[in-house]
Amino acid sequence: MAHSHNHEVCIENAVEEAEKICAERGSRFTDLRRRILTMIWQGHKAVKAYDLLDQLATQGGSAKPPTVYRALDFLMEEGLVHKIESLNAYIGCPHPGSDHVSQFLICDVCGIVEEVSSDALGKAVSSAAAAQSFHIKGQTLELHGICQNCNGKKQAA
Ligand SMILES: [Zn+2]
Ligand SMILES: [Zn+2]
Ligand SMILES: [Zn+2]
Repeated sequence: MAHSHNHEVCIENAVEEAEKICAERGSRFTDLRRRILTMIWQGHKAVKAYDLLDQLATQGGSAKPPTVYRALDFLMEEGLVHKIESLNAYIGCPHPGSDHVSQFLICDVCGIVEEVSSDALGKAVSSAAAAQSFHIKGQTLELHGICQNCNGKKQAA
């Protein structure tokens, strides 16, 4: 992901894709679900549930935590967002509607999370597990480090 880009386009695409996917599956993309998805897509950083609750409160909404968690569960089930367990936060999926393994590159400096989808890496993990007769139900790798942009700043300084 380029550091400077028109992020409005990212948000528009994400919401459009979500609408399409939910319509195809007959899932209800309610107003709250749309608002939460848009909030998660406010940047390329993972967003915590309580930040969503705070924002909903300032927007004059009266969404209760269970309602927000249900909306998040829905978005995850539909593959529109992923949970980053190591941050206990949520990030929008850049390619929802496709079956994919996810590896997340998480910058510990600026907080940007980039989702990569390496089939080769996915297969390597699967075969390592198969060697132990271990059946994987899902795999998500969370890799912490420093992104290109933050690394460049460090070297320039
Ligand atoms: Zn963007
Ligand atoms: Zn994804
Ligand atoms: Zn960074």
